[in-house]
Amino acid sequence: MSRQFDVVVIGAGPAGYVAAIRAAQHGLSVACIDEWTNKDGKNAFGGTCLNAGCIPSKALLESSELFHRAQHEFKKHGITTGEVGMDITAMQKRRAGIVRQLTAGIAGLLKANKIEGLVGHGKLLAGKKVEFTPVNGDVETIDAGHVILATGSVPIELPVARYDGDKIVDSWDALEFTAVPKRMGVIGAGVIGLEIGSVWARLGAQVTVIEAMDDFLFMADRDVARTAAKEFKKQGLDIRLGAKVTGTELVKQGVSVTYEDKEGTQSLEVDQLVVAVGRRPFTDSLLAEDSGIQLDDRGFIVVDDECRTRVKGVFAIGDCVRGPMLAHKGSEEGVMAANLIAGEISEVNYDVVPSVIYTAPEIAWVGKTEQQVKESGRAYKTGSFPFAASGRAKVMEQTSGMVKVIAAVDDDEILGVHIVGPMAGELIAEAVLAMEFSASTEDLQRTIHAHPSLAEAIHEAALAVDKRALNYIN
Ligand SMILES: Cc1cc2nc3c(=O)[nH]c(=O)nc-3n(C[C@H](O)[C@H](O)[C@H](O)COP(=O)(O)OP(=O)(O)OC[C@H]3O[C@@H](n4cnc5c(N)ncnc54)[C@H](O)[C@@H]3O)c2cc1C
Repeated sequence: MSRQFDVVVIGAGPAGYVAAIRAAQHGLSVACIDEWTNKDGKNAFGGTCLNAGCIPSKALLESSELFHRAQHEFKKHGITTGEVGMDITAMQKRRAGIVRQLTAGIAGLLKANKIEGLVGHGKLLAGKKVEFTPVNGDVETIDAGHVILATGSVPIELPVARYDGDKIVDSWDALEFTAVPKRMGVIGAGVIGLEIGSVWARLGAQVTVIEAMDDFLFMADRDVARTAAKEFKKQGLDIRLGAKVTGTELVKQGVSVTYEDKEGTQSLEVDQLVVAVGRRPFTDSLLAEDSGIQLDDRGFIVVDDECRTRVKGVFAIGDCVRGPMLAHKGSEEGVMAANLIAGEISEVNYDVVPSVIYTAPEIAWVGKTEQQVKESGRAYKTGSFPFAASGRAKVMEQTSGMVKVIAAVDDDEILGVHIVGPMAGELIAEAVLAMEFSASTEDLQRTIHAHPSLAEAIHEAALAVDKRALNYIN
């Protein structure tokens, strides 16, 4: 007789494992299937985020940032050291250890919540049945009351820059380099390209980022993008905009890259080339022909606002469906899907999903950019506060950047908050909370912020919206 579960989740990334835990919290019987295999051949839960994305990239960003600061800032504090060196093997060991601990933690969480963690491939059949092919063992068909598809995404490969796993690599390979490339090329100045470029640039690589779009960080507020571009330039990141890669060739020393920009055909030689041009939803071998699930023209599983697919009882969440490819967005969809399955009312507020880029300075925002507000036609006001005027930023030696608040003229509602500067990824949480509660700038203005703190910059930017900033000339 086939096994039966109230909920079968396919994929144990931040969308899938969270959905599984939430469903189990509702008292439902749950199985969570995942086939992720790390480079050492071991299976691990946690998906892209824990194994090859959010966590390992932040581990390396932290190490490389500390190295950079030790080299360039310690002196200012009066700290003397010998020559500061970097042991890449030790850095990578730390990264791998963090990933191991956190992925083992997910396995522990599944177990503690009495979720059956199944290692292998899941395929959705018709009639809410799931075919499970274990890594070791026989294929079985599982009956599911509900199915949640959470199969994530994979890097997009460029036909003109095929991966060879050595000189032309994807973001995962670039997080596991064992030596600092002397000359590194990155195709794509998006979040992933900038984070990876920053890591290796701080460790000494000469990094060139080639970006097809004319605008730097087109999705960010223009003021923030301009400030960030200036900072990255100062740090030595060579970002070439409006440059479309047309070919690559493996040469003795590395890779020869050809691209077109407004001046014509250009070429560049690098030791290693990282392709970071985005990710595509991953649904390979996931759906039986008669599963009834519909994909859109870009390969995303078609869902409604509640992440329901066209097939009753089958949900899809995370990177394999529309919306920003972010771990926290997928997790919230997982919570919503599990709540809906359990009969609760649940929703995701897609208007307040924060975005963070963990470069130095960090970049973070929530809500609309000034351009988007302008296009909406709603009358608005803005207020900004530079970190150069923040006492806390000053003592941290991190005065680049600013906070910008955009609010509606009619009812003072906060429409967007944009930060480039120290700990922007942490600071943005205050703005997300405020917007989740439909706060006005007056609410932020009335909120007492500890002194001296970076968060005071949010307070001051909110005050500046009404030309009331206290520590900056309005
Ligand atoms: C370098 C990098 C840095 C990133 N940094 C951040 C960040 O700082 N913050 C952030 O929010 N996001 C970040 N992201 C994006 C984030 O990793 C994804 O948005 C997130 O992992 C998506 O979660 P998910 O659960 O939808 O899919 P995934 O994490 O991709 O997990 C899907 C899982 O499903 C498994 N699977 C797929 N098909 C099957 C099948 N048929 N059977 C069994 N198992 C299957 C996969 O093996 C995988 O384990 C980063 C991504 C990268 C690449």
